[in-house]
Amino acid sequence: MPPEVASQIAAGEVVERPASVVKELLENALDAGAKSVTVNIAAAGRILIQVADDGAGIPADELTLAVERHATSKLVSADDLFRIATLGFRGEALASIGSVSRLAITSRTGDAPAGARLRVEGGIIGRLEKVGSPVGTLVSVEGLFYNVPARLKFLKQDMTERRAIDTLLTRYALAYPQVRFKLSEGNTPSLQTSGDGDRRAILAALYGVDTARQMLDVVAEEDGFKLSGFISPTALTRSNRKEITFFVNGRWVQDTPLNAALLQAYHTLLMVGRYPLAALFLEVPPEEVDVNVHPAKAEVRFRNSDKAFSLVQRATRRALLAYAPVPQVAPQNLWGSASSQLRTIDPVWSLAHHELGVDSRESTVIPPGTPPLTTDDSRLTTPETLPHSGVPLLRLIGQIGATYLVAEGPDGLYLIDQHAAHERVLFEKLMSQHEQKAIPSQALLTPAVVHLAPTNAKLLEDQLPVLQHFGFHVEAFGQNSYQVRAMPALFANSDPAAALRALVEDFEEDEAPLQNELEAKIAGRVCKRLAVKAGQVLSPDEQRALLNDLEACDSPRTCPHGRPTMIHLSVDTLERQFGRKGAR
Ligand code: ADP
Ligand code: MG
Repeated sequence: MPPEVASQIAAGEVVERPASVVKELLENALDAGAKSVTVNIAAAGRILIQVADDGAGIPADELTLAVERHATSKLVSADDLFRIATLGFRGEALASIGSVSRLAITSRTGDAPAGARLRVEGGIIGRLEKVGSPVGTLVSVEGLFYNVPARLKFLKQDMTERRAIDTLLTRYALAYPQVRFKLSEGNTPSLQTSGDGDRRAILAALYGVDTARQMLDVVAEEDGFKLSGFISPTALTRSNRKEITFFVNGRWVQDTPLNAALLQAYHTLLMVGRYPLAALFLEVPPEEVDVNVHPAKAEVRFRNSDKAFSLVQRATRRALLAYAPVPQVAPQNLWGSASSQLRTIDPVWSLAHHELGVDSRESTVIPPGTPPLTTDDSRLTTPETLPHSGVPLLRLIGQIGATYLVAEGPDGLYLIDQHAAHERVLFEKLMSQHEQKAIPSQALLTPAVVHLAPTNAKLLEDQLPVLQHFGFHVEAFGQNSYQVRAMPALFANSDPAAALRALVEDFEEDEAPLQNELEAKIAGRVCKRLAVKAGQVLSPDEQRALLNDLEACDSPRTCPHGRPTMIHLSVDTLERQFGRKGAR
């Protein structure tokens, strides 16, 4: 085998797409102690990737060595492999990148009078040049895979490749808040962080201000293992695991037992098929992890994985328990202040409920957002301190803004989001009919024909058997077209075409849910699409019916996707606001 081919094959393990080049260069910059890293790309990295840092630089006489395979300055002996404190250690990245692109490295160390530049083109190392350069390193990768057309073909659309780079940068920015990061394509920066160490600010760049504000802090330490970061409250979820990020010792890792530990902490708190958002950073002594298990270093193996697992599981669970599933309007929030503190429901609630002689069917039910009692949660072991899950009988006051219902309960005012509430009602009805295998179906007088995009048609095709279980009778009707002949009676008045579209839109490309998840997911999607919308005026009878249906739900306080259906303004809050209590 010619050596160029061998090195291209080896490169394939490290360099798969533009984002993997960015990752290797970023890691090198961080290993060199950079305080500022600037990434520039053109055409989503296919034409150009440039990473500039202000780190230690590479001495001119080591530049040539740096681009050779298995040349690393970071490992001296085999023993070092077991206490790796740098991100790189294989000495493969620059050699790999150089074999599949036109690579140029310009670098200068603090004590050198000038910089040096070395070019590598398709694996051929050029001559060292002397150039003017600031201290630090600038790596420029042009024409990635220009000499490996087969690889080029596997690249996804620019939008996808760009998103991968963006995701990478934001994750690293979050992991290294003391480093200044900048990412731009052309003249437009898409990410810029200050390097002032404030992770919350970076979180806003990652998820948007609203989401960032809701994220819960996690901080914990157990025998030398330190965990920090953020997790989403149960009301904030995604349909996939993509927003779960773990760093171990500054290294972004995927597919570790840590993911399972996190999901276990959310167990029973989320709808099936929903996943939390998380950005968690674990620091452990270097000898506790083996990082040399994956070519792109995206995996680690723990010497004692139970320890890491239980720290993550317990710390995240604790953060969740400290959070209340039903948002209450705290006084600050009323006036739009930045605080988004949420308060737990008054425990007096269930008592008031009894005193009123109301059917107390829900008074011992554990709220959807409440984990089962465990012995170490001593503060939750007495039933009367349990937050209440159901809703009491409510007296309807009316509708406001054609969006919310206003109602009075024994402990204050309730604002109900009509869309979220209706979604919950439809979902529970549909799922209970489904469990009893008795979904009444209603034939349509005129079958509705729906034309779909080819990818969506394929998705729908795969789901037809499940749809049948739910009372949808759908048949192929020419290429990429379908005919809806019957619908679940529950949705009798809804638009069949909209229902069908709901099933396949916003379906993520790599979502492959298990069968039982799939069913709940499909039901959730249809209910979301067919529920009354915000802005829809409801007659008093419709308002009352919705309220009654909601009261009858098992989990009335959240929609099937975990968002709250209602906000509660307690009598206590009202009294404080009007200065009747507390303040004088
Ligand atoms: P590794 O990071 O595994 O050592 P690489 O191929 O990524 O291997 O880099 C080879 C060597 O080049 C590194 O060990 C380091 O000495 C040097 N190097 C690469 N990039 C930089 C940089 N940005 N700043 C300083 N030194 C660098
Ligand atoms: Mg490296």
